[in-house]
Amino acid sequence: MRTSNLWIPTLREDPSDNEIASYRLMIRAGFIRKLTSGIYSYLPLGLRVLFKIQQIVREEMDRAGAQEVLLPALQPSELWEETGRWQQYGKELVRLTDRHDRHFCLGPTHEEVVTDLIRKEALSYRSLPVTLYQIQTKFRDEIRPRFGLMRGREFIMKDAYSFDADMQGAQQRYKDMYDAYTRIFTRVGLRFRAVEADTGLIGGTSSHEFMVLADIGEEAIASCTACAYAANVEQACTVKPAEGPKTDLPLTKVMTPGVSSVDDVCAFLNCSPHEIVKTLIFVADGRPVVALVRGDHQVNEIKLRRQLGASELHLAGNAVIHEVTGGPSGFSGPVHLAEVEIIADDAVAAMPGCIVGANMGDTHYRHAVLGRDFMARCADIRNAVAGDPCPECGKPLDMDRGIEVGHVFMLGTKYSQAMRATFADAAGNDRPFCMGCYGIGVSRIMAASVEQNHDDAGVVWPVSIAPFMAHVIPVQDQSEAVMTEAVNIHQMLSQGKIETLLDDRSARAGVKFNDADLLGIPYQVIVSEKNLKQGVIEIKMRKTGERITVKKADVTAFFLKEMGGTDTVGA
Ligand code: ATP
Ligand code: MG
Repeated sequence: MRTSNLWIPTLREDPSDNEIASYRLMIRAGFIRKLTSGIYSYLPLGLRVLFKIQQIVREEMDRAGAQEVLLPALQPSELWEETGRWQQYGKELVRLTDRHDRHFCLGPTHEEVVTDLIRKEALSYRSLPVTLYQIQTKFRDEIRPRFGLMRGREFIMKDAYSFDADMQGAQQRYKDMYDAYTRIFTRVGLRFRAVEADTGLIGGTSSHEFMVLADIGEEAIASCTACAYAANVEQACTVKPAEGPKTDLPLTKVMTPGVSSVDDVCAFLNCSPHEIVKTLIFVADGRPVVALVRGDHQVNEIKLRRQLGASELHLAGNAVIHEVTGGPSGFSGPVHLAEVEIIADDAVAAMPGCIVGANMGDTHYRHAVLGRDFMARCADIRNAVAGDPCPECGKPLDMDRGIEVGHVFMLGTKYSQAMRATFADAAGNDRPFCMGCYGIGVSRIMAASVEQNHDDAGVVWPVSIAPFMAHVIPVQDQSEAVMTEAVNIHQMLSQGKIETLLDDRSARAGVKFNDADLLGIPYQVIVSEKNLKQGVIEIKMRKTGERITVKKADVTAFFLKEMGGTDTVGA
C-alpha cells in the first residue's frame, strides 16, 4: 500500500480535549476521528488495527468451539421486560419508539436476544453445548463517556453466550472461554491480569475480569507480588491476623472537644490510625447494623452486605445514628450498645485495645477491648490495602490500576429461567439451560494497547495488531534511484506477504521520520542514497530505536524471521 492511496490525516497539534495518551495519539496519527461525545469514526489505518484485533478474537473463539453469528442491534422492549432489565438498565439503555409506538432499544448486550433465539428452537440435550459469538456495535448511553475509545457510547464488542445442559458443562465452557481470553490478550500484546470479580447473587469464583494494567485505569486491583493471585480491590480477601494479648488497662473516658475524624483524633490524642476503631452505622434491608474497622481501613460494602445476607445496604443518616447510639454522629462507638447487630472486621479482633467513640458528644474511650468492653461478630469486611498478605501465598499484595478489557461470567439459569428457555433432557423433561456470557471490548483493546505501547514520539504497535509490519521510507525522494529502489523493496516485501506501507510522498526526510514514529509501524525500512551505494537497507525498530543494516537480498528473510517470533507479553 502506498501513502498516496491511503488517507492518513496526521496532525501536528494535540486535540483540545487531550484526555489521555492513547486518545491524543490515535487522533494525531489519523487512526480515528470524533463525531461527538463517545462516538468515533475509524479511518483506514485505525480500521486495519481493528480488523487485526477482530481476526485474533475470531481465531481464538473458533478454536474454543464458539460459532459466529450476527444478532440484531435493534431489540424489542418485550424481551427486556421478561428479564426485568427494561426497568433495571436505567438511563444507560438507548431507547427508541417506532412508528407504531412500539418500544425498542439499541443493544448494550445480547443475553435477551440470544436466549430468545435459542428457546424458539426446541433443542434437546443432544444438540448441546452451543456457544455463539458475535462482533458487533453496542450502544450504551454512558454517564461519563471519556478517554476516547475506552468508554464510548457506541463501541465494538465481542460477546459470546454458552448454553449447556448442566452446571458441569457450563463450568467447562467457562474454563474454555477463560483460556481463550488469556490467549487473545496475550496475542494482542497486552500486559494483563485476570481478576476475580463480584458475582452478585450467583457467588463462587464464576466471574473474572481481564484487566489491562495502566495508570489511567478506573479499577483498583490487588495483585500478589509473588504468585498469580489477583482480585478487584472490593473482592480481594484479607487474611485474619493472629490475635495477640489484650491490654489490662481499664476502659477510660477522654474528652475530645470537636474532634471526630480519624486524623483529628490521631492529632489530638497523639496516636496513629491503627490504634483507632471507626464505627459506622448502616441500614441493611431496613434494620440498623454497626460495622467496626480499624482507623486506617475502609469498610467494603459488598463484603458487609454479603456477611449480613442483605440485598440492600446504605449508610445511616443522623436520625438513625441517634436512635441506635443515643449520641451524635462522629462520636459513635460499640461500648454499651445493645439490641443491635455489631460486626467487626477481623483486624479489629487482633487489636490489644482501641480508641472508640463513646456515643456522647466530644467524648471517646481509650483501651476499649473486644470481648471485655464490647461484643461483636468478626469477619472480613474491609478493602484490602497494599502490603496486606496474599490470601493464597502470604506474600505482600500490590495495588495497581486497571482497565477492564474482558469479562467472563457464569450466568447459571438466571436468564433461561426468567425467559423460560428450556431443552428436553434424556428423560424428555424440560430443563432450563445453564448459561455463561463472555464479553471483550474490541475497540477498547485498541485504546488500551496504545496506552501501554507509546512514547513521546507516537504509537508503538505490537507486531500482532500493527496496521502494517514495515514502513518503507525513501529519504531523498527527488532521486529517481532512491524512489525506484523503495518501490522495489515495497514490492518485494509485499510479495513475501509482509504488509508494507510505502511513503511515496514528496516530503522532507524529517517530516517522514516524524510521521513514521507517530504511526508506530514496528519496522521502518530506510532507503537512502548512501545505503544504496553500499547495497544495504537500514531498518529502524520503532520500539527500541535500534538500527541495523541488512543486505537488500536479505530483507524479506529478515521480516519472515521477525514474524516467526513473538513480541507479546502476558502477565
Ligand atoms: P465497565 O465497568 O468498564 O463499564 P462493563 O462491566 O459495563 O464495563 P461488560 O458489560 O462486561 O462491561 O462488557 C464487556 C466488555 O465491553 C468490557 O469488558 C469492556 O471491555 C467493553 N466495554 C464496556 N463498556 C464499554 C464502553 N462504554 N466503551 C468501550 N468498551 C466498553
Ligand atoms: Mg459499564
